[in-house]
Amino acid sequence: MLFWACLFMSAPAYAEDYFVRTQAEYFAAEKKVKAGDVIILANGEWRDFEIKFSGKGTSKKPITLTSEEAGKVFLTGQSNLRIGGSYMLVSGLVFKDGFSPTNEVISFRRSKTELANNSRVTQVVIDGFSKVDRFESDYWVGIYGKNNRFDHNHLSGKTNKGVTLAVRLTSEDSQENYHRIDHNYFGPRPVLGSNGGETLRIGTSKYSASNSYTLVENNYFDRCDGEVEIISSKSGGNIFRGNVFYESSGTLTLRHGNDSLVENNVFFGNGKDHTGGIRVINENQTVRNNYMEGLTGTGFASALTVMNGVPNSPINRYVQVDNAVVENNSVINSKRVTFNAGADSERSAPPVNSSFSGNILSGSGKGTFIKVQDDISGIAFGQNYLAASEASNDLAALKASDIMFERADNGLLYPIGITAGVSRDLKPVKRDQTGARWYAKPVSGNNFGKGAMVDVAPGEDTLSSAFAAAKEGDTLVLQPGEYIVNKTMLLDKTLTLKAGAAQADNAQAQKVVIKFGRPSLIEIREGGNLALQNIHIDGSLAPDSVGNAVIRTTIYPIQSNFLIQMQGVTVTNLEVNKAFHFINLGKSSFADRVSINNSRFQNISGSIILAAAETEDYGQYNAEYIEVTGSSFTDIGSAAFNIYRGGRDESTFGPHFLLQQSSFTNVGKSGNNQSGASMVLHGVQYGDIVESAFTASAPIIVRHTVGRPQTRIMRNAFSATEAPIVEELNFEGPSRSELSNNAFVEAGPEVEANQ
Ligand code: CA
Repeated sequence: MLFWACLFMSAPAYAEDYFVRTQAEYFAAEKKVKAGDVIILANGEWRDFEIKFSGKGTSKKPITLTSEEAGKVFLTGQSNLRIGGSYMLVSGLVFKDGFSPTNEVISFRRSKTELANNSRVTQVVIDGFSKVDRFESDYWVGIYGKNNRFDHNHLSGKTNKGVTLAVRLTSEDSQENYHRIDHNYFGPRPVLGSNGGETLRIGTSKYSASNSYTLVENNYFDRCDGEVEIISSKSGGNIFRGNVFYESSGTLTLRHGNDSLVENNVFFGNGKDHTGGIRVINENQTVRNNYMEGLTGTGFASALTVMNGVPNSPINRYVQVDNAVVENNSVINSKRVTFNAGADSERSAPPVNSSFSGNILSGSGKGTFIKVQDDISGIAFGQNYLAASEASNDLAALKASDIMFERADNGLLYPIGITAGVSRDLKPVKRDQTGARWYAKPVSGNNFGKGAMVDVAPGEDTLSSAFAAAKEGDTLVLQPGEYIVNKTMLLDKTLTLKAGAAQADNAQAQKVVIKFGRPSLIEIREGGNLALQNIHIDGSLAPDSVGNAVIRTTIYPIQSNFLIQMQGVTVTNLEVNKAFHFINLGKSSFADRVSINNSRFQNISGSIILAAAETEDYGQYNAEYIEVTGSSFTDIGSAAFNIYRGGRDESTFGPHFLLQQSSFTNVGKSGNNQSGASMVLHGVQYGDIVESAFTASAPIIVRHTVGRPQTRIMRNAFSATEAPIVEELNFEGPSRSELSNNAFVEAGPEVEANQ
């Protein structure tokens, strides 16, 4: 209210104030607006409203579109906003409960030829306004034209493919643009499981020889995990200053274009996987006074990465680093700094004419903290300080010493008695200084166990009734006995099913047993998250059907990533069909994590987890983390775990797979198991199979595709089971797998017959 009232009061007397209640009223007003006019949308929901807003304001008298009250005007359904002309100002709108029917939610152009210049969008919210199919692409914000400002906006929860905010340099009218992107709140962007999950991109490789001169300042990136690039700078002359990256997996990448400046940014990883810092490529890049703490990223996602280039690089590859200045940065309690990253037969041009000085460097964990992967003589090392951690032998000048740190009032760690690293006056922007003040920022964590505890009695249909009636976060506490479920239970909320406390001690008579009369027991839909604890699921009543699976995903789109947690679960007799699976993750579904702990599976014809639906080889997949500990798998016909991520794309960190302290007995030996494996990890980036026992089972098959796959198969016992098979599909060179301390007991006759 106050905001537009002030604007209005400061406007000259003849300015018009159009208060509109319908789309028709809006478009009538929009035709008439002139410099200084204000269009005010009445509070309430505006459904399927494709706003076009253009005119000719002036610097003193912009044309304004705003809300009756900030945060009380909702654009829902199929809505968007296209701005054209000059000195246009938009504020106070909320986009939610829908998606844009076009390529953008907010576009700084009305049409291909009518761009917006000198215009501003401020205090606008886009919350979960994602296209329904996760692989249908759009941008939430496309900035064209010149001298535009995008500030104090809240962009959170994009689940479909496509950059959250893209600065487009598609014509000369949009280059050398001097846009300002500041004080925005970039809220959680979940893992996409594909390329196209960048939060901010400026330019594309095609226009990367052009300068953009975009300023990105004082923004807050909160859990922006979409893919390996949080920010992808693909043009020249950009400035990234004073931004905070909080628990965001990925890096700020100077991917294409020269002459950019990265300074005063703060990265807090808090130990989360793949949290990275800044990646340097191209010419004349300056990286100074940046602070990185608690980052775990390695390789291209290191806290600091200086890459090797391609000699005479094509525009879409890697231009050699030349004249880079990297100074006065603080890298603290982080896992890795990498020089010459990506060095190979193609990327053979090391950095030249560059300098690295005044940095304070402190590693975490074991192993080499500072890695050098090629000739580093083109970087002049001035005075840097290395706290007790290990650097490559190539950096003889960089000697580790005992350095103590203390945390200053600005929340950052500084070395005691040494002047190096970031300046004392660096003040990271605070979360609540960004975004729209009147719009709540999302909390972290999931809703398991946050609702009511609901007792359920055994019997026929008791469980399905309670399941349907349950609310977000509820826990269904199943009393001992047998449960018959006659219809597939549709899960669109966070729900826990657990045995009542008295039954946790396994007395057979006290068990909770669920049987079901449909091909599936539970179908995961949008919003569904599932935890099962100490219950027994038996498939003996299920009918024979194509696609039998105890837990499956719906054929309808699932926008949100979901969680599946199993603890102390017993699953038996899934055998009516020749491929009766336990969990089957279908196309366009994505689990953040599937965990199985202390559980028992026996007599199952299909797979325990089938996550192999994305077969087009676009680098898409179905689960980020699959973790199995302390569990047993006996008489499983197909590959117990079948995970597929195909193609050559390198934009994702996952999938990750862990099997630990578990046993396989007679797994993968069914004649219907086309894979011939007890598990198939295809394109898994991090695979750990440790401290487990494999008896009379088919071999483990691991296929490495692109990227830097790491497979560790260690401290396992294999009995009458062929050794694991690790194949490299696109990589020549030494094996990228570590097989160590495994015990192989003499193969039985059955296995010999296979060899
Ligand atoms: Ca990308």
